[in-house]
Amino acid sequence: MSIIADYHMHSHHSGDSESPMEEMIESAMLKGLSEICFTEHLDLDYPELPDLPPEPFTLDIPSFKKELFSLREKYKDKITIRFGIEIGMQSQVAKDNLSAAESEEFDFIIASQHLVDGRDPFYPDFWEPDTVENIMNRFFEVTLENIKLFPDFDVLGHLDYIARYVPEGDTTYSYQRFKEKIDPILEYLVANGKGLDVNSKVLAYSETLPPNPCPEALMRFKELGGKIITFGSDAHNPGKVACGFDRIRQIALDAGFTEYYTFEGRKAIAHTL
Ligand SMILES: [Zn+2]
Ligand SMILES: [Zn+2]
Repeated sequence: MSIIADYHMHSHHSGDSESPMEEMIESAMLKGLSEICFTEHLDLDYPELPDLPPEPFTLDIPSFKKELFSLREKYKDKITIRFGIEIGMQSQVAKDNLSAAESEEFDFIIASQHLVDGRDPFYPDFWEPDTVENIMNRFFEVTLENIKLFPDFDVLGHLDYIARYVPEGDTTYSYQRFKEKIDPILEYLVANGKGLDVNSKVLAYSETLPPNPCPEALMRFKELGGKIITFGSDAHNPGKVACGFDRIRQIALDAGFTEYYTFEGRKAIAHTL
């Protein structure tokens, strides 16, 4: 068995990708996938960044939808194409995010925490003002606050995203060390029938970093009664589609999962892992 669906992909409709949708689709077919979901970024009130234009992650949803629906029709005999979105959470935009989620009949919504108190961990100076431990604790705290403010999602994106961007060589992060902060997030997801995005993006460029969530956190989700997982490469270009999928499949099996999910019209559909 192998995973048939990549449920976290970006194209030129996202502010940090220039990839044509059609190239992403062709790549997915070459890799043997039978279903994909485009999950373009909507990350409102994003801070000003040195290498991106102002408000880089607004999303022209009608234009995204138009192109997706036309490609869905073109490829309908070859691959299933779902209409998704990755919504970046911040407390001050929770209401706008709820409106955006309702504005279209999305198949699938990922809620993601990319920022901590309006700052982006991708940039090295983010880490200067405080200890890695304090910053990570804060990241998990705001994630929990935000999923309560924005409950209209299907899976939480890359749970421990911030661990991707710690200063090089830093070994502060482990599930065990942040258990007190991570468990309430997982418990909330389980209690509300939400899932986790098992995100293989880092496997495309790092030999040492674990996928997100790390295997121990995924195992904990299962222990707590978590059922819904989706697999996503978080590819922003065609070469990364379905990257690391054999590895994340094995990690999910080792965590005790026997099923993974795809979505249609926000309804979860189980597949044998
Ligand atoms: Zn993301
Ligand atoms: Zn993404």
